[in-house]
Amino acid sequence: MKHKKIIFAGILSLLLLAGCGTKDEERSASDDSKKTSVVATNSIIADMVKEVGAGQVSVKSLVPVGTDPHEYEPLPEDIKQASEADVVFYNGLNLETGNGWFNKLMETADKKENEDYFAVSKEVEPIHLTGNTKQEDPHAWLNISNGILYVKEIQHVLSEKDPENKDSYQKNADAYIKQLEELDTTAKDAFADIPNEKKLLVTSEGAFKYFSKAYDLTAAYIWEINTESQGTPEQMKQVVEKVRASKVPALFVETSVDKRSMERLSKEVGLPIYSELYTDSLAKKGAPGDSYYKMMKWNLEKIHEGLME
Ligand SMILES: [Zn+2]
Repeated sequence: MKHKKIIFAGILSLLLLAGCGTKDEERSASDDSKKTSVVATNSIIADMVKEVGAGQVSVKSLVPVGTDPHEYEPLPEDIKQASEADVVFYNGLNLETGNGWFNKLMETADKKENEDYFAVSKEVEPIHLTGNTKQEDPHAWLNISNGILYVKEIQHVLSEKDPENKDSYQKNADAYIKQLEELDTTAKDAFADIPNEKKLLVTSEGAFKYFSKAYDLTAAYIWEINTESQGTPEQMKQVVEKVRASKVPALFVETSVDKRSMERLSKEVGLPIYSELYTDSLAKKGAPGDSYYKMMKWNLEKIHEGLME
């Protein structure tokens, strides 16, 4: 654990450091203030950190569950937590860029890229937006293989920041990755059974490019990314054409978007909205989809069921 930003963490950190005993005493204490403190931009990344850092880290998500991480207004509390964090993880790939909120926050908190804050998508091969080919599509985590790259990056950074607990991070990451790999293999086998003319995944935001590539579907959507205008007549026209050109039996809607456009599309093409899907946020605690593993399992099962109708 490094306390390099003493000026910004303030007197409180100095007192904490002075009050800290040996590392062994720290480890035996359950007090969160003695763990490596991590801030993640959204609930999905925070959950991965919880898995890898189990027992050794305290983690907080800035963007609350159910809220869109593309654009966000950090609260004074967020600025305080980001300033005091030992490590900050963000998605990168053009996710937290909507109103430039993340870069502004890191500047305010006096955090440096690859020293204090890290993109978990570092090793991902990006897919670009079709509407603006210079920009990356952020939704890489919706392909489990990329989720595994996120987990490995988190493990790598935590081990560098807190080398004493390297073995624990390794053990946690290995077990977690094994679970994710099994889910991925099961899904790939299942999706192979869907007839080709039904392999169109229709959602509000075009968040499923990485997902569709991994599970051999075609993604159709009303708007490409949450930062653009949503449900314009032109957008509705292009998606209606795509749906009508296919034999897709069902539509889907994400939990973190305004659902009215998808409801309009459903009426227009006469197809049901089969299920909600989790894209940019986990479910509320206790609901199905309240972890990265469970949200992916839910998405894979619901999409498979819906397209097999
Ligand atoms: Zn999104």
